[in-house]
Amino acid sequence: MDHPAAEELIVDLQAIRVRIRAKLRDGSLPPNSVPMAFGHPGNGENCVACEEILTAARLMMELTNNAKTFLLHGDCYLLWMEELPAPTS
Ligand SMILES: [Zn+2]
Repeated sequence: MDHPAAEELIVDLQAIRVRIRAKLRDGSLPPNSVPMAFGHPGNGENCVACEEILTAARLMMELTNNAKTFLLHGDCYLLWMEELPAPTS
């Protein structure tokens, strides 16, 4: 079986959301949307959201915020965006 069941994927997503919320609180992820985000192939480093390897086969997003760089999967980037507080403006 190459493909995990849909139920497992949902559990994984929930687990990643919990990690992202914790990292938003402790500052490991930017607490607001960032002005600079670029997509690249993965470079073998660890995703700051889910801590899995960023393989070259998957999209990696590079965020820059206050001169700090954050590398995360394209999928984790979307989850992070969903966990951000709504804009107040
Ligand atoms: Zn990730």
